[in-house]
Amino acid sequence: MGERGASALDIVTETVAVLEAHPAFDAGRGAVLDRDGRPQLDAGIMDGPTLAWGAVANVRTVAHPVRLARALAEGDGQARLMVGEGAERYAAELGLPYVEEERLVVARERDRWEHLRAADGFHTSAAFSGEAPRGTVGCVALDADGRLAAATSTGGAPYTRPGRVGDSPIVGAGFWADGTAAVSATGWGEAIATVQLCSRAADRVAHGQAPEDAAGSALEAMRTRVRWPGATAATGGVIALDVQGRGGWAFSTPRMARGGWTPGGGTWVALDA
Ligand code: ASP
Repeated sequence: MGERGASALDIVTETVAVLEAHPAFDAGRGAVLDRDGRPQLDAGIMDGPTLAWGAVANVRTVAHPVRLARALAEGDGQARLMVGEGAERYAAELGLPYVEEERLVVARERDRWEHLRAADGFHTSAAFSGEAPRGTVGCVALDADGRLAAATSTGGAPYTRPGRVGDSPIVGAGFWADGTAAVSATGWGEAIATVQLCSRAADRVAHGQAPEDAAGSALEAMRTRVRWPGATAATGGVIALDVQGRGGWAFSTPRMARGGWTPGGGTWVALDA
């Protein structure tokens, strides 16, 4: 919940922007690399009261994809999801910070790429069931005026085909906010998009489930319904917040780092399973 009048949209934008800048996470600098060894960044953001959203996919020169997504959420509504070169051009027109593609690449991800390139028959879904740390980032917030917002940012899944887009910039899939709940997701994008994981969890909150139960049952629906040959089980993670300020999360991946802040309750983080 915002302190001193910060809006929920500001909170999720600024929180995600900090995480994009940090090389520990698979978002912005530190992103995983595609089969060509290049980063492809995706992000999405949504304002609960207005249902206005914006998203970008496959950008490589935008330092903070979440800020471009935010600009689209607050724009004239004629483009909500922009991809690739057109999105990069628009970011430049808006004067958003440019980043050299090489600056996004860190040694950890270069090594992972070398390893996956040498491995035989890697399936994208396997990235979400192994022990290797992953790091799509997301934030949900409720402000003092009762407004909810959600944002998600990612470098996508490792070693994907260039041009592949996951769930993170897909409204309802990788992010969602309305008058009742704000939700952000991580995990196997192809599965998440199929079950529209975030709007599914939000619907459950709207029907009376606590955020934690909604997150868990939406993930369970994904696991049981998405069973594709050659893929591992459909796993993911969800953070959710309702309009009363009750937060919850669930994950079926081996682990999911998470944290929160409440007025009077301070800040907490958890990195364990
Ligand atoms: N959901 C993201 C994708 O599939 C990846 C992740 O959450 O780590 O693009």
